[in-house]
Amino acid sequence: MVAIRSFVLLAVLTTGLAHPLTEAKRRTAPELEALLRGNQKFRSRIAVSGKPDFLHDLAAHGQHPPFMFLGCSDSRVDEDSIFSTSLGTMFTERNIANQFHHEDANTHSVLSYAVAKLGVKHILVTGHYGCGGVAAAIETPPKPPLSGADEAIQKWIAPIREIFQTSTRKEIVELRERNKGHDEVHEPKADDPGFRALVEENVKASVQEIVNDGIIGDYFKLLEKEGHNNRTAIHGDIFVHGLVYDIDNGEVRDLKVSVGPPGKEVLTTPFPPVGTKTQAIQAPKRGSRSSKKKSSAHSRKAEH
Ligand SMILES: [Zn+2]
Repeated sequence: MVAIRSFVLLAVLTTGLAHPLTEAKRRTAPELEALLRGNQKFRSRIAVSGKPDFLHDLAAHGQHPPFMFLGCSDSRVDEDSIFSTSLGTMFTERNIANQFHHEDANTHSVLSYAVAKLGVKHILVTGHYGCGGVAAAIETPPKPPLSGADEAIQKWIAPIREIFQTSTRKEIVELRERNKGHDEVHEPKADDPGFRALVEENVKASVQEIVNDGIIGDYFKLLEKEGHNNRTAIHGDIFVHGLVYDIDNGEVRDLKVSVGPPGKEVLTTPFPPVGTKTQAIQAPKRGSRSSKKKSSAHSRKAEH
């Protein structure tokens, strides 16, 4: 009798305490099926590659990435895709508009780990044209009372708004002038020179913030004092670079703001500087010239 009572009590308690999620109907989201297939493809590509133990080796020996990448969260900017690098190459921090905030524990801890533990050699701050976070800093801010989401975004992009409002760079001053007198300023076009200039200035600001940060400052001081002798604390020289990625043609440009340890030769990047002519990428030659013309006409037709 006691046993039956206990069973009934347990059943009532279990039903009452059951999490509502367990009672909900469930089905697999069709859009996630593609990710499952993608993961299977990824694994089989490695299995048939010349290095089938690639993942196992990475897992067994830990990561030793030569680069730290600070980029935007934008889905069109992916460090391994744009540089054709493989896993284990980039230690990554991505956030809205590739910013470095000293008071932000996330970016700060990523930089600390990259410098003190992993010993990365290059930090690549990479902005991109058409950046929504930078555009939001040009737009008229939403009127109060702000929603939680608006407040979080406005707080995060405040340093970029500050650059926009105070920069003396010609293109940015011109954009500010054009916006004057408008009650509501909307997102500029991606090719607006002022918008592009602000994207570049924001990258430069992040480079400067990183260089001014105590993590890098202390590391440079230690390097200056002890050279490369203190192998537990010093991994080698570190260089911080500013790059910008063009989402329209995939090209990466150098903003020529690279910084290295004081008194040392600065190792720069081989990327072409901003403002020079875009280098055309040669498509693989297929068939004759006339057939090429025919096929491009056909593909144009197919697009419409
Ligand atoms: Zn962005």
